[in-house]
Amino acid sequence: MAKAAAKIWMNAHIRTMDAALSEAQALAADSEGKLIAVGSDADILALRGAGTEVFDMGGAHIVPGLLDTHVHFRMYGESLLKLKIRDLSKEDILASVREAAARIPAGKWIVGGMGWNNEVWEDPSYPTLAELDEAAPDNPVLLPRMDGHLIWANSLAYRAAGVSDDTPDPEGGEFMKTPDGKLQGCASNAAAKTVRAAIPAPTAEERREAMFAAQAQILAYGVTGVSDMGCDPVDLEDIDSLYEDGLGKLRFCGTLARCLNPKDPEENRAYLDRLPILGKHGDHYTVRCTKILSDGAVGAQSAALKEDYSDRPGHKGTLMYTPDELYHMVRNAAERGLQVSTHSIGDAAIDEILDAYEKVLSEIPNPDHRWRVEHFQTVTNDSPDRAARLGVIPSMQPMHAPNSATMALRRLGEKRIHGAYAPGLVLKSTGMVAFGSDAPVSAPAPLSGIHAAVTRTNDSLFPEGGFCMENAVSPMDALKGYTIWAARAVFADDVRGSLEPGKYADFTVLDRDIIETAETAPHDILKIKVLKTVIGGKAEYEA
Ligand SMILES: [Zn+2]
Repeated sequence: MAKAAAKIWMNAHIRTMDAALSEAQALAADSEGKLIAVGSDADILALRGAGTEVFDMGGAHIVPGLLDTHVHFRMYGESLLKLKIRDLSKEDILASVREAAARIPAGKWIVGGMGWNNEVWEDPSYPTLAELDEAAPDNPVLLPRMDGHLIWANSLAYRAAGVSDDTPDPEGGEFMKTPDGKLQGCASNAAAKTVRAAIPAPTAEERREAMFAAQAQILAYGVTGVSDMGCDPVDLEDIDSLYEDGLGKLRFCGTLARCLNPKDPEENRAYLDRLPILGKHGDHYTVRCTKILSDGAVGAQSAALKEDYSDRPGHKGTLMYTPDELYHMVRNAAERGLQVSTHSIGDAAIDEILDAYEKVLSEIPNPDHRWRVEHFQTVTNDSPDRAARLGVIPSMQPMHAPNSATMALRRLGEKRIHGAYAPGLVLKSTGMVAFGSDAPVSAPAPLSGIHAAVTRTNDSLFPEGGFCMENAVSPMDALKGYTIWAARAVFADDVRGSLEPGKYADFTVLDRDIIETAETAPHDILKIKVLKTVIGGKAEYEA
C-alpha cells in the first residue's frame, strides 16, 4: 500500500502531457508538493488517509502548469505601472502624455509602457519630436515602440541624455534625423539605450512593486513558471530577496544578461562567478543561463538580415558582435557549464550564432547543453536543420506572428515572409519548440499564445484567416510548447512540464479543455478561463 496522500484533486479532466499523452481524472500529492499518483478517481481516492485534503474539481480541466519561456519580468511589471500606450492611436497617446504632464511636477520623467505601434495609425510614419514637445514641454518623455527596439522621445529627454543634433550614432543604433539634420524624435537600439540611460533608476521599493505587479498578473494568466530573459545582477538579487521574504510564488528561472563580453559591466561579469544557482527557495529560483543579444528587431529594421530589407534598399540591419566576439562569449559560458540563450531574429544573426555554437560545441562537447536561440524569427535556409543537429532549442513567441504580420510583409517581402515567425516550419526540423510571450512585448498569457500558434491570429482575430497558415502548429504541439517542451528549455522537464509521479503538483485549472476547444472552435480558446494556478500543490491564484 502506497503512503497516504497529503492532497488529492479529483473529478477533473486531466491532460498529463506525459510521453503517451495520457488523460486522467485525479492527482495525489505528498506534503512536499510532489505528485505521488495520477489516475482515475477510484485509484487516487484509495490513497486517501485521515489527514488528506480532497479537492473536488467539479469536472474542471487540468493541464500541467503553463510555462512562459521568454519574459522580461521586472520590465513587464514596470510596464503595468507605466503610462498605458499600447494599441492607442497617436492622438490618444499624445492626449495621455498631455494629461500626465499636467498631473506630475515639471522635470519628472514620463515613461510609456509597451508600446506604440505606428502600423495601426492612420499615418504610419514615425512620430516626431515636435509632437511630443508640444504635449509635454516641461517633462522629459520616452515612449517605447511595441518591439522595445525603438523609442520616441522629446527634446528634454534627449537633452537629459546629452544627445544633440550633432551627436554621432553609436555603434548598433541610430538617432533618426529630419532631412535638415535635426533630431527627428525616434532612436533605435544602442541609440535608444543612450536616451533610456538618462531615466533615473527605480528605487528598491519601485522595483519590488513592479515585480509584485508582474507576478500577480502572470499567475492570473495560469502561468506557474517563467524563464526570465535578461536580468541584471540587481534584478537577480531583488528576486532572490523576494523569495527570501517568502513573497515569491512563481518558479523563476533567471538569465544573466550582459555578462559574457569583456566590455560588459564589471558587476555583471563578477556576478557570473556566482552561477549557477540551482533550485534555491524550494526549487523556485534557478539561474543557470546567460543571455546574448546578437541583433535587433524586424520592426525597428535592426534585425540582421542576409539580404536588404524589402522596404529599405541598402540596409541589412545590425549584428551586435563579430563572429569572433560571439565565439568568445559562448566559449566563456561553455567553460563555466552554463546554458546560453541568444536573441537572434534575422537570418544572418541566426547563422552567426549557430556558427558560434557549433564551433564551441566542437571544442567543448556537451550532449545536454540546451542552448537556445530566442525568437528564431527569419528562416531563409537550413538553419532549423542546423539547430536540430546541434541540439539547439528554438524559443519562439507565437503572438509576435499575427501582431507583426503587416509590418513583416513590408520589411521582409513576399519571398521571405513564408519563413518568418514560423514555428510550424521550425518545428518540422527541431521536433520541439519552447513558447513564450516576450512580455511586455505581448501579454504573458499562454492561452493567447496557444490561440495564436494554432490560428495565427491575435486576440483581436487579426489578420483575418491567419498569417501564413502553413506555419501554424497543431493544438497539441502548441500545448507542448507551453508545458513539456518549455520545461525542457529550462532544464526542468524532470520535475515539471507534465503531470507524472515524482514531478511537482504544478498545474493550471481551466473551465474548458484547450485541445477540444482548439479542434472545434479555435477562437474560443480566448474565452477559456483560468480557475486556479497551483504550484507545489498550493493554489497561488484563484479566480
Ligand atoms: Zn525578449
